[in-house]
Amino acid sequence: MEQCVDISIVVPLYNEEENVDLLYDEIKSVTREMPQQAEIVFVDDGSRDATMARLEAIQQQDQAVRVVSLRRNFGQTAAMSAGFDHAAGDVIITMDGDLQNDPHDIPKMLAKLDEGYDVVTGWRFNRQDSLLSRKLPSRMANRLISWVTGVSLHDYGCTLKAFRREVIENINLYGEMHRFIPAIASGMGISFTEMKVNHRARRFGSSKYGISRTIRVLLDLMTVKFLLSYATRPLHVFGTLGIAASFVGFLLALVLMVQRQFFGVALADRPLLLLAVLLIFLGIQFITIGLLAELVVRTYHESQKKPIYFVRKVLASPAVTPANQPSGESRVL
Ligand code: UDP
Ligand code: MG
Repeated sequence: MEQCVDISIVVPLYNEEENVDLLYDEIKSVTREMPQQAEIVFVDDGSRDATMARLEAIQQQDQAVRVVSLRRNFGQTAAMSAGFDHAAGDVIITMDGDLQNDPHDIPKMLAKLDEGYDVVTGWRFNRQDSLLSRKLPSRMANRLISWVTGVSLHDYGCTLKAFRREVIENINLYGEMHRFIPAIASGMGISFTEMKVNHRARRFGSSKYGISRTIRVLLDLMTVKFLLSYATRPLHVFGTLGIAASFVGFLLALVLMVQRQFFGVALADRPLLLLAVLLIFLGIQFITIGLLAELVVRTYHESQKKPIYFVRKVLASPAVTPANQPSGESRVL
C-alpha cells in the first residue's frame, strides 16, 4: 500500500494447490510486460490442501503479492470480497484461480477501461466446461438475468472482470452475488462493456460447484432485482400488491353481500366468500409488510450512511462551497 499500485488482481482460491504456482508464473509473465504497477491479492478461502503453503512461499519472495487467508471456507463471493478489502489498486481485476481464465486478457481489458468504461466483463465465448451441467444452465441463466435486470450480458458467470475502484467500493456482496456486480453497478449509473476472453478447460483440481448453484443464482437474482428496483421504496411493491388484493376481495364481498341481502342467495356454500376474506387479509398483510420494509430500508440506509444516489462529480467554486457539503453522503429519506 505504501508504494503506488495501479492494478490489483484479486484471485480466490479453494483447494487449488496444483494451480497456484502455474497461475502465479502466468500472471507475472503478463504483469511484467505492463507499464502499470500491479499487485496480486490471493485469497485462500480456507483450503484444506497445500494451497496456503504455496501462497506463503510465493509471498516470501515477491513484494507485489498479498495473501489473505480466511479462517474457513466462506465461498467464492466472500473470498472475493475479502480480496477487494485488501486491494490497493485504482483498478481491480478479478479472475479464477484454476487457470481457466487467461491472464493474457488483462492488458486488453485495461485498454477497454481506458476507453472510458467503468466495468469490463469477460465473455467466455469458447467456454470449456461440460455442456449439460454447466453451459446449458448457464446460457438459460444469462438470458434470464439479462431480461430481469435489463443489463444485457452474454456471460454473467465469468470471473475475469475489470472494475474501477469506485464501483467495488460502493457494493456489498452476499450469497453468490459476485456475478451480479455489473447488474448491481448498473443501478449506480456506471458504464460497462463486454469483451470476449479466452477460456480453458480445468487441468488440475476439481470444480467446486454443481448444478445446484443454478438455484442459488436464481434466488440471488430475485434479491438483486428487488434491490435494483425497489430497495428505496418497498411499499410501492408491497403496497400495490396489497391494494390490488384488498380491492378484488372487497368487490367480491360486496357482490356476495348484495346477493345475500337483496336476492336471498345463501352464503353458506359459497367458496367465493373464502376467497374474498383471503384476499382482504392478504391485502392488509402486504401493506403491513411494505410498511415494515420501509422501516428496515431506512435503518439500512441511515445506519450505514448509504446514499440513495451516486454522484459522478460536483462542479462548484471552492469559495462558495458550504462547509457541510453533502458530497453524495446525504440522504433525503
Ligand atoms: N472458490 C473459492 N471458494 C469456494 C469455491 C470456489 O474461492 O468456496 C474459487 C476456486 O478456487 C476458483 C474459483 O473460485 O478459483 C472458481 O471456482 P470453480 O473453478 O470451482 O468454478 P467454475 O469455474 O467451475 O464455475
Ligand atoms: Mg473454474
